[in-house]
Amino acid sequence: MKILVVGSGGREHALAWKLAQSERVQMVYVAPGNGGTAGDVRLQNIDISDPTWLAQFAIKENIAVTVVGPEVPLAAGIVNIFRDHGLKIFGPTREAAQLESSKDFAKAFMKRHGIPTAEYQTFTDIAAAHRYIDSKGAPIVIKADGLAAGKGVVVAMSLQEAHDAVDMMLSDNKLGNAGARVVIEEFLAGEEASFIVMVDGKNILPLATSQDHKRLQDNDEGPNTGGMGAYSPAPIVTPSLHARIMREIINPTVQGMTKDGIPFTGFLYAGLMIDAKGNPKTLEFNCRMGDPETQPIMARLKTDLLTVMEHAVNGTLDAVELEWDRRTALGVVMAAAGYPDVPRKGDVITGIPEETPECVVFHAGTSLSKGQLVTSGGRVLCVVGLGDSVRMAQKQAYETVDKIRFDGAQFRRDIGWRAVKRPA
Ligand code: ATP
Repeated sequence: MKILVVGSGGREHALAWKLAQSERVQMVYVAPGNGGTAGDVRLQNIDISDPTWLAQFAIKENIAVTVVGPEVPLAAGIVNIFRDHGLKIFGPTREAAQLESSKDFAKAFMKRHGIPTAEYQTFTDIAAAHRYIDSKGAPIVIKADGLAAGKGVVVAMSLQEAHDAVDMMLSDNKLGNAGARVVIEEFLAGEEASFIVMVDGKNILPLATSQDHKRLQDNDEGPNTGGMGAYSPAPIVTPSLHARIMREIINPTVQGMTKDGIPFTGFLYAGLMIDAKGNPKTLEFNCRMGDPETQPIMARLKTDLLTVMEHAVNGTLDAVELEWDRRTALGVVMAAAGYPDVPRKGDVITGIPEETPECVVFHAGTSLSKGQLVTSGGRVLCVVGLGDSVRMAQKQAYETVDKIRFDGAQFRRDIGWRAVKRPA
């Protein structure tokens, strides 16, 4: 069978890597892929990005299932296009992807269906937005309505920062159309967790829990990034909290989408804030898997991913029981010099070891140039270690990180610190 994975990041490398392990998979195409997917004989990069051309490719190559990694093609309607051609694809339609592509849509949806989230209001009028901030005080959170590649959220600790963020989005148009509308919401304190499920329109299959690290530097300092590391499972999500998240957030979301006439299919990712008392609230929805959460999650998945995907596109996810490696998987992102603002490209990467049962290196911003592996994007690699405890997984990951070299590499030394600190 031939499979197509759409995207070029570490998430897509991990999905393609896992799919290629299936005995029934003959080839996994990755569009456009990266240096890691180019270097793996079971994978083949294809240089097509337009969804209509990709659908033509899928027809010509008799692709059995297409899996979409990033949000941009989903928001552009790649699932609608593939389905119009009778192709099997796992992801939400353009309409359902609004859960991620419009924060105003997501907030109104959550309000309508009683899903716990921060209080908010949406604005297009600058003066009204400024007045609202003054009436609420700081800290307060300003979010661009549309997709802004992680740059559309300002957690303002002072009124000045909040007013500046509104000006940046609504009057200076720094984020273009994405920031033409802003959601201003209550600041939530607590610990974040990622909760990712697969949805086939009606059945819900939760994946292993995970936790991301958004800030660039150790101790959660420095600017926000796409994510500097993640591990799975996340001990903060106890079995009782898991049940509560399913009951209060995930089930009502999937049922609400169906009630609203836009049934959800695809990966549904709830970014959660768990307060000091253990109450979960939804910070955001993503309609795809997280990056870097996918990398440790796929490293732990024992079940054949092709079989899972087949059930997902046929509406029979209720027949699937996932089996997970009992070990912790912990992924450390190695980013390029200059990331997240202006990542430098073209640095030569050396020292990536062969995969072992304890460690696998997923590529993101890498490419092959004249036979050499070079950096070609912000987040370059995600080194995943597996071990019987978070500490053991950390040790495995960092031993490998220390063998890999490229000029200006940036990475955190403390991925997993919350889990290490947590009382057993
Ligand atoms: P991404 O898709 O890259 O995760 P995004 O641009 O969709 O990010 P959000 O996830 O909504 O944005 O917010 C980014 C980060 O901002 C969150 O991970 C969280 O750390 C912080 N944040 C968002 N909303 C709140 C809130 N109401 N209170 C406190 N922190 C918040």
